[in-house]
Amino acid sequence: MAPVAATSASIGLTWQAWLILIGVALLWAGCYALACWIWPFTACRKCGGAGRHKSPSGKAWRKCRRCKGSATRIRTGRRIFDWLKVTSKEAQ
Ligand SMILES: [Zn+2]
Repeated sequence: MAPVAATSASIGLTWQAWLILIGVALLWAGCYALACWIWPFTACRKCGGAGRHKSPSGKAWRKCRRCKGSATRIRTGRRIFDWLKVTSKEAQ
């Protein structure tokens, strides 16, 4: 008897947990979308926001190939937003 009661209780908890999880995920997505709207750029992953790679001597350097020396990278959320904007424009 005890395991059955425990199972039904855990199902009830799981359903509520899912609701909370989805709510938190939506809240996080909303905050992330807002952050991507206000701050569309982040540091380049390859050069760490320096825009260049230094030689072992430290005197010579070359431009980062990934960001072409701009040291910035468009955030994934903003890229999705821009892609959606272009797609909706093409649909009209
Ligand atoms: Zn870079």
